[in-house]
Amino acid sequence: MTLVTPTRLSDGRELIYFDATAQAAALHRDHSAVADTRDLPARGATGDARFDALTGEWVAVAAHRQSRTHLPPADQCPLCPTTAGNLSEIPAPDYEVVVFENRFSSFGPSLGALPADAGWGTTAPAHGRCEVVAFDSAHEGSFGSLAPERARTVIDAWAHRTEALSALDGIRQVFCFENRGADIGVTLLHPHGQIYAYPFIPPRSAVMARAARAHFDATDGRETLLAGMLKAERDSGERMIIEGKHFSAFVPFAARWPLEVHLVPHRQVADLAALTDPERDELTTVYLDLLGRVDRLYSTPSPYIAAWHQAPLDPLLRPASRLHLQLTSPRRAEDKLKFLAGSEAAMGAFINDTTPELVADNLRNAVGTTAKDLP
Ligand SMILES: [Zn+2]
Repeated sequence: MTLVTPTRLSDGRELIYFDATAQAAALHRDHSAVADTRDLPARGATGDARFDALTGEWVAVAAHRQSRTHLPPADQCPLCPTTAGNLSEIPAPDYEVVVFENRFSSFGPSLGALPADAGWGTTAPAHGRCEVVAFDSAHEGSFGSLAPERARTVIDAWAHRTEALSALDGIRQVFCFENRGADIGVTLLHPHGQIYAYPFIPPRSAVMARAARAHFDATDGRETLLAGMLKAERDSGERMIIEGKHFSAFVPFAARWPLEVHLVPHRQVADLAALTDPERDELTTVYLDLLGRVDRLYSTPSPYIAAWHQAPLDPLLRPASRLHLQLTSPRRAEDKLKFLAGSEAAMGAFINDTTPELVADNLRNAVGTTAKDLP
């Protein structure tokens, strides 16, 4: 069972320890031992959200993020445990998993609803919340290098935060994700992910949620779109990579990226918070297996975005949407990355240079121990 200990940083931001062991939790509950002694400046005001009338989408304008920490040296890492020489964001001598409010937040700290009647020129506070999830106290690695028990605690932390953030005023979507690799803009090497709680349903999520609702209605509520797709992939097996009792991973039929995998629960669940303990246990195993395969495709780690799609907090869309992970990488060869050029960036029309079936075959075969798996 994961023990949850909430506390506050010196500027008022919330920080929460997630511990699998009673010993670690006892340390984090001793407030004098883990007090934040930094004299931090007061938190900045919430940035702006501007309405783009051309597309009907909101754009966050967060100029204050320009000054955020960028690839600091290891001895000044803000996600390492605090030492005498490095008063980091985590004021404890050690930790297992920690979540805290991002100091350089794109959304929040204010909360509330965006105006429903937005048009050209509408500006509103970029309400919401952005959190950082430190996966482990060790400075190097990523989710795939975590010990299974630590990965399991991260899943509990994601579930806890999804439930808590979903209950905040004005939140429409909670998004847990991990960016890995400087090639896709990672500014901190320490293994970590992020959680965004948006005051609107983000554009791609909205498109998917509408398609899911249309399928749900067309089947009189008997089947969700993802359930139908999962069944088709399991029946075909052509693009299947891992088939478990509670989760399956496959390359989607119309993959957009040269490396793209979807990890889907077999049961209809809206979000990570709805997963049972046996499902979370198997997710740990299956997800680590999947990331191991991704890392064996090439001689160096591939950059990726691991995006947890959860059902929007909308009464019409939510019943038709199912939790799933979309892992995407721009890597298309040992020494080549796909860049989003005219068709993709300007038109949103993806052209994939490889076939999903070939990628699935490569991932199915990427098993066993390679040189970099050895201690
Ligand atoms: Zn670090």
